[in-house]
Amino acid sequence: MLSRCLELEPCRYNGERIPFDLVRHLEPWVKFRPVCPEVEVGLGVPRDTIRLVASGKRTLLVQPATGRDVTEDMETFADRFLSVADGVDGFILKSRSPSCGPGGVKVYKDAQSRFAGRSEPGLFAGAVLARFGGLAVEDEGRLRNRRIREHFLTKLFALARLREIGGGGRTGDLVRFQSMYKFVLLAYGEKHLRSLGRIVANADRRPFTEVFARYRAGFMAALGGMPRARTFINVFQHIAGFFSDGLTAGEKAHFGSLVTRFRSGRAPASSVTSLLESWAVRFEADYILDQALFAPFPEALVSEADSGKGRKG
Ligand code: SF4
Repeated sequence: MLSRCLELEPCRYNGERIPFDLVRHLEPWVKFRPVCPEVEVGLGVPRDTIRLVASGKRTLLVQPATGRDVTEDMETFADRFLSVADGVDGFILKSRSPSCGPGGVKVYKDAQSRFAGRSEPGLFAGAVLARFGGLAVEDEGRLRNRRIREHFLTKLFALARLREIGGGGRTGDLVRFQSMYKFVLLAYGEKHLRSLGRIVANADRRPFTEVFARYRAGFMAALGGMPRARTFINVFQHIAGFFSDGLTAGEKAHFGSLVTRFRSGRAPASSVTSLLESWAVRFEADYILDQALFAPFPEALVSEADSGKGRKG
């Protein structure tokens, strides 16, 4: 699901569109469901801006120029729209929007005040997070950071694969998925790999639907936060260890320099995984070659572009 003003349509309050290349790059692989919540609640284009305003414990969505309160309209729309959003794997939302921003949106003390009180998700985004917070959810500002983008794409494409497995209903496919994602899960933390392994082993012989629901919830939680560079590097070194006897000193040095560049944020994970994959081919390590770590998302989406900011939260 996508905020419609990102790359697609000039539906912002001022009649503009936000250029965002990732949307075009994703198009061959992703079926977008674009939505502009402010247009959907009848605010039109162009329109006077709206803002979040504190009202006791509640947060309202109001249009200062007209005094209009669209809180209820937005809540009703969000509920109706999201209640039929089955089959969605992720959301790309417009940052800092009082409707779409998934976090850090200023809340004002009143409709006219210039002073922000606290920060929250926009009203529509808040409904997204309440219902679908375990999916891949990001805003376009954060997605300009390479590490955040790699994390988002890894989760998005993994959840799409999982959704297909859920539809197929075959335990063997779930076991294969767990095996393929072994190193990805290790990069996110060994405890996740182990707990998901126990679920998929299904010692209690539960029905597939039950096992799948538990596995999917556990997988979403495992990829709930950004992986640390250090755990990623541990995985790289673990894999390199399979081949170390056959590598020259120069190859080991090259691997070390790629890892250093990755650690400092100057190179994408794929620069290291490509090298490891080439060694797996050379040493015929078929048991490694099908690992999702080598292709967590389509290669065409690998990009050096990086805002370098890496905003968190
Ligand atoms: S941020 Fe959301 S509500 Fe605002 S123009 Fe974009 S899609 Fe519409």
